[in-house]
Amino acid sequence: MQNKSRKTKPKVFITRIIRDKGLDLVRESCTVDLWTGELPPKREELLEHVNGVDGLLCLLTDRIDAEIMDAAGPGLKVISNHAVGFDNIDVMAATLRRIPVGNTPGILTDATADMAFALMMAAGRRVVEAEKFLRQGKWKTWSPSLLLGVDFAGATIGIIGFGRIGQAVAKRATGFSMRILYYDPNLLIENSDLPVISTDLDTLLRESDFISLHVPLTPETRHLVNAGFLSKLKSNAVLINTSRGAVVDQVALYQTLKEHRIFAAALDVTDPEPLPLESPLLKLDNCIIVPHIASASIQSRDMMSYISANNLLEGLNNQRLPHCVNPEVYD
Ligand code: NAD
Repeated sequence: MQNKSRKTKPKVFITRIIRDKGLDLVRESCTVDLWTGELPPKREELLEHVNGVDGLLCLLTDRIDAEIMDAAGPGLKVISNHAVGFDNIDVMAATLRRIPVGNTPGILTDATADMAFALMMAAGRRVVEAEKFLRQGKWKTWSPSLLLGVDFAGATIGIIGFGRIGQAVAKRATGFSMRILYYDPNLLIENSDLPVISTDLDTLLRESDFISLHVPLTPETRHLVNAGFLSKLKSNAVLINTSRGAVVDQVALYQTLKEHRIFAAALDVTDPEPLPLESPLLKLDNCIIVPHIASASIQSRDMMSYISANNLLEGLNNQRLPHCVNPEVYD
C-alpha cells in the first residue's frame, strides 16, 4: 500500500534541456517535465505543459504572461528565468499573483562583456569581411590600403547602461587606453575605481567612436537606437548591441549602415530572433551579426543552469529566491 504520509515531489516544467549542473539538482527533488525539443514549446504546448505545475523554469524564448500563469493554476509558486534579462516575463502579472520571478545576474557578466569586446574589435578591424575576402580568393598581395579599420587606443567608448555588464566593458576598455563615457540615468558613480565620465546621452553620441549598449529592454529602451540617435553619431562610429534586439530600430540601422553614415555595427541580438535570412542587414559588409551567444561560455551556461535551478528550488521550498526581480512579493 502506498504510504500516504510520504510528501509528493513538486511538479516542475523546464522549457528546454539546460546544462546538467542545474538539471540534475532539480531532478533530485522534483518531478520534472522536460521539454526536449530543439525549438521552444509553441504557445499551445506551453499552455498545456504548465497546467498544474508548482514551478516553471523557462528561457528567454518563452513568453510568460498572465495567461500562462493562470494556465499553471494557483499552485504555481515560482518562475525561474534562465537569463539575467527578464523582458520575456510579465513581472507585474507575476507580482499580482505573488509569484516570485528569478533571474541569473552576475555569472554571465564577464562572458557578455568579452563578447561585446570581441564584436567591437571584429567590426572595427573588419575581421569577418577580411576572412570572407580571403576565402573568396581576393587576396592577391599585401597592400597599404587593404581593409583598413579604426583605431582603439585613445578612442572614446560610450557605454549606455552602466550596470554589471556595462562596467565590465569599461574595465576592458581601460586596457585599450580608451576614454570612457557612460550614460545611465539611474546611476551616478562617484569615486569609481575606473576612469569613467558620466554624460548625458547627446554628448555620449556626439563624442564616442564606439557605442556599446547594455540596457535592459523596457518600454523606455525599445528602439532607443532610432534614426535620431543614429544621426548624432560620428561617421567613424562603431555600434555594438549585446543587450536585446528591440533596443535597436533595425530599419533605421540598415539605412545608416547602407549609406555609410557610421563605420560599422555588430549585433549579438536581433528583432526578431532568429533573424530571417532575407533581412537586408545580412547583405551589408559593415554589419556583423551573431546568433545571441554573448553568454555562451561553458562556465557561464553551467552557472546559469545552476542558479536558475537554485532559484526554482528555493521558491518551491517557500524560501526567498537568491536572485529575485520582484522582491516586493515578500513585502
Ligand atoms: P544591470 O541591471 O546590472 O544593468 C543595466 C543598467 O541599465 C542599469 O544600471 C540601469 O540603470 C541601466 N538603464 C536602464 N534603463 C536605461 C536607459 N533608458 N538608459 C541608460 N541606462 C539604462 O544588468 P546587466 O546584468 O548589466 O545586463 C544588462 C542587459 O543585458 C540585460 O537586461 C539583458 O537584457 C542583456 N544581456 C544580454 C546577454 C546576451 O546574451 N546578449 C547576456 C546578458 C545580458
